[in-house]
Amino acid sequence: MDGRQFTGPVWPAAAEPGDIVSEESCDIVVIGAGIAGCTAAQAASENGASVICCEKFGTFSAHGIDIGSVGTRVQKAAGVEIDKALAARLIYEWGQQQANYHLIRTYVEKSGEVLDRYIDMAERDYGMTVTLNDDMTARADWNTLEDKYKQFQTAHLFNRTEGSPIRPSKWNAAFFVEMVCDSAKKNGARFRFNTTAEQLVKSGNTVTGVLVRDRDGLKKINARKGVILATGGITDNKEMIRAWCPAALRADKFENFPVGSNMGDGLVMGVMAGAAVSRCYPAPIIHPVNFSVLSPGMNTSWLTVNRDGRRFSSEMAYEPAVTNARLNAPGNVAWAIWDDDYKEHIKKQESRKARKLLENIDEGMARALESGEYVRCGSLEALASRIGVPADNLKATVDRYNGWCAKGEDGDFGVPPRFLSPVKKAPFYACKISAYLLSLPHGLHVDQNSQVLTENDEPIGGLFAVGNVQGDFFANSYPVTLPGTSHGRSITFGYLVGRALALGKTISEECSWDTWNTSGL
Ligand SMILES: Cc1cc2nc3c(=O)[nH]c(=O)nc-3n(C[C@H](O)[C@H](O)[C@H](O)COP(=O)(O)OP(=O)(O)OC[C@H]3O[C@@H](n4cnc5c(N)ncnc54)[C@H](O)[C@@H]3O)c2cc1C
Repeated sequence: MDGRQFTGPVWPAAAEPGDIVSEESCDIVVIGAGIAGCTAAQAASENGASVICCEKFGTFSAHGIDIGSVGTRVQKAAGVEIDKALAARLIYEWGQQQANYHLIRTYVEKSGEVLDRYIDMAERDYGMTVTLNDDMTARADWNTLEDKYKQFQTAHLFNRTEGSPIRPSKWNAAFFVEMVCDSAKKNGARFRFNTTAEQLVKSGNTVTGVLVRDRDGLKKINARKGVILATGGITDNKEMIRAWCPAALRADKFENFPVGSNMGDGLVMGVMAGAAVSRCYPAPIIHPVNFSVLSPGMNTSWLTVNRDGRRFSSEMAYEPAVTNARLNAPGNVAWAIWDDDYKEHIKKQESRKARKLLENIDEGMARALESGEYVRCGSLEALASRIGVPADNLKATVDRYNGWCAKGEDGDFGVPPRFLSPVKKAPFYACKISAYLLSLPHGLHVDQNSQVLTENDEPIGGLFAVGNVQGDFFANSYPVTLPGTSHGRSITFGYLVGRALALGKTISEECSWDTWNTSGL
């Protein structure tokens, strides 16, 4: 590992063979029962492999709402057609070309086909419906914006209906995970909960199994076909975040759950078995803490200023753009400012969704003022004093910003005219820009088959990584060009890797597409 990377000792010493209390064998071991691991276990067992999935907590992990995919039958029925080459290019460019384009393109090309299988399963066997989400970041008309702000309607919602065998949850993604977990069990996959994988077992350059620990002690599981790491990212490991993505530590809220599930275990096990850490800069999945309509960064866009009262970023509510900028603002503080014409501004910013956004706006405003989340003052001077920024600077910033609004062109940050909202009519409002770290994907260097690689880009036999421990897919910042891609790529690669390994194939053998040349990747 180089100096930028984490080097601290986080793993217990290698287990002595004498410590092992039992040994068993199967075709494929999956480590981690999150959305990626459960999907991999489902796909591998469906394709005839004997599977053991080890999970360190007492049940599977699932959080979140949106499941991204491109080209499903639900999208086709809704008339949503996405230019796949453009979508892949935009994700790649969002990561400043650090990530592996082939992985991204595979996701864009194959995710529709993969999710369709699970949509069929959900509707047929599990009493669910699947719809498109057009709430918050999943806007129906942002595909018409310039490339850097484009968003496509990729977010799918798995919904329980009455009588569904799936348990209620506030997280729609949990319906999906419970479904694939159940289906995997019906296919014969064995889930070992409260079982922590500690160390990969190697023979030469091939991973042949894993040492796991449960309440009875250390056990060896041999994997005839391979081991799939699906242990999640590094969200709960502050040391790793400090080493690889320190800005994320400046977030106001960290609430991955179960706490301790994302300690980077798979990444460390991989490195100890000779793997390289992804060379991409990590892409934190981050957005504002509060989703209420006027709160900056999610639904609406307002002038933002730093503690000096100066404008410092594009205010587009493009999760996670505003929060990224806040994390590097001096003093880790920044404010959104808007005026009393906010209802008119919302109508201009989101004409298609304005009615919905304005539905309960008066109650929301009253609540936020009472709780202190929003500040309201009769003049800009008073507002500046309340939020602790220099009044002269704030007034000068507002004048300059209002000038861009009048011109219909933002000469500083390029915010599209529709989102420029002048600050003219008293009273004036302010709200702190908040930041919530949901997940920090960062993982192992992999090839186009999601097979784990060494520093010399050589594949390690029998070792694969899916979900947030799969490196090289995201870089720098989480792309909301295709909302729900975090779940979407976990499912897509979970499925593709699980199936290919069970069938003794590679993803690439099954995944070529028109004009694509797989050589040299
Ligand atoms: C509140 C919240 C909302 C979100 N909303 C969305 C959304 O709407 N759309 C979206 O796309 N993404 C969303 N995300 C992000 C998304 O949920 C994650 O990126 C996704 O869960 C990653 O899946 P995974 O399977 O890689 O990891 P995880 O879901 O974290 O699963 C990893 C599993 O591995 C287990 N494990 C780890 N180490 C070991 C070990 N040594 N031995 C055995 N087991 C181990 C863990 O306990 C865990 O169960 C959200 C995240 C949060 C926290």
